Amino acid sequence: MNVQNFIGGEFVDAVDHATLENLAPATGQLIGTIPRSKQPDVYRAVAAARVAQHEWADLTLDDRADWLEAIADALESRSEELARRESLDTGKPFSLAQRVDAKRSVENFRFFADFSREQEDLVFEMEDATNIVHRRPIGIVGLITPWNLPLYLLSWKVAPALLMGNVIVAKPSELTPLTAHLLAEVCQEIGLPDGVLNIVNGYGPEVGQQILEHEGIKAISFTGGTATGRHVAATAAPMFKKLSLELGGKNATIILDDAEMNQAVQGAIRAGLTNSGQVCLCGSRILVHESIADEFTQHLVAQVSAMKCGDPNHPETQVGALINMAHVEKVESYINLAIQEGGTILTGGTREMTGPPGPTPEGAFLRPTLISGLSHLSRTAREEIFGPVVTIHRFSSDEEAIEMANATDYGLAGSIWTRDTERGHSIAQKIDTGIIWINTWLHRDLRTPFGGVKHSGVGREGGSWSLGFFSEPLNVCIKHD
Ligand code: NAD
Repeated sequence: MNVQNFIGGEFVDAVDHATLENLAPATGQLIGTIPRSKQPDVYRAVAAARVAQHEWADLTLDDRADWLEAIADALESRSEELARRESLDTGKPFSLAQRVDAKRSVENFRFFADFSREQEDLVFEMEDATNIVHRRPIGIVGLITPWNLPLYLLSWKVAPALLMGNVIVAKPSELTPLTAHLLAEVCQEIGLPDGVLNIVNGYGPEVGQQILEHEGIKAISFTGGTATGRHVAATAAPMFKKLSLELGGKNATIILDDAEMNQAVQGAIRAGLTNSGQVCLCGSRILVHESIADEFTQHLVAQVSAMKCGDPNHPETQVGALINMAHVEKVESYINLAIQEGGTILTGGTREMTGPPGPTPEGAFLRPTLISGLSHLSRTAREEIFGPVVTIHRFSSDEEAIEMANATDYGLAGSIWTRDTERGHSIAQKIDTGIIWINTWLHRDLRTPFGGVKHSGVGREGGSWSLGFFSEPLNVCIKHD
């Protein structure tokens, strides 16, 4: 399946016709080509966005919410295909792509459409004047997204950006272009005005960089790695572009001594290994109270060892492929580092598949891996691995758990498992992070703020935070007679 750019309502090749290969992670086989876009393609997309900008901004919020609903309906009618494409492109189990990626991509559009209907202009009364705060569109916004949850994360930005009256130049990851293309197909099908959504494909340092540098693009919403985020900020901040940075994580799963054992084990597996650990929110460090650590670890190892890893299309598969062989090698280098740092591999660490047959040996598979015996200050325990690797550490008091949880440069998310939710709540407030779940993980109310502190990012998205980011407030102060 060959992907094209979507510019001004048309599917087009890169101006110079250059292409890249798109490979399936589970088999190493060629899916098709994508445009290798560069500066002229971004210029073309910005020009198309400029043409569409004013008419789109002049629509009412309700009219734009209707467009979001139309996109949601059209995407939903193709959700099986959406999940198939996502699974093919990422190597994740089809069942996971259906349950998470396809469902949430549709929900993102529906949520922002519904949420907008509850919005009112803010009014601040003074004795002798009234202030009315309007939210105006920013103009052309640049959206840059990663490969782990391709349309889920892109739609999380596209929906509020369109809703607030902006027009878009988006760049999906070069590793997973298929569902952004499906979104473009859907927008063309329903007759979204030409140029409102433009998608350019290709490498980050080529086409992504041009989005960052283009004077006509006034805001950048970026989700990706911390090193790239630093570069995005260094490029866009001196141009005074509005910036939202959703970056990496090294999240702690904290198991207190009063946790319900089975719930904590299930929770730690879900938090640690969903999407082969390739979710920024994954709990890649388990901190467990020493009094229950042996029993907890025994259950955890037994269950993780039995996980079925292999063919993403088989309904029994729990662990799919990683994004590509280069990433497998990067994750393996961390497993080797863990051994050098004195860690013990309790299960996994190898490339075998244990599930039903299907993928070829060229598939990017790695067994879910648990490692114990490392200091919480080791590099393995502090750096983001972004794979199916979870380290286990023991603590003896709530204070020690908090200190260990905070001992990384990251601060995105985490979870606490306890029968005493008041105690959990009190610990949560001492952890330097953006989100903490108690007795659950990735339980999302889309009205709540999403984002991190420290090296996990700057700003928040979600609910009114997204509407705030994708708009400029205009305060009109009217003096009374
Ligand atoms: P990445 O930083 O390599 O790439 C992200 C996007 O940036 C891609 O589209 C890439 O092409 C583009 N890019 C790369 N260089 C660029 C440049 N110079 N200019 C402009 N764009 C450029 O990240 P990735 O490997 O695709 O994704 C994995 C990372 O994303 C992990 O660190 C993960 O934690 C993070 N992530 C964070 C969140 C969050 O919400 N905080 C969500 C998902 C993933």
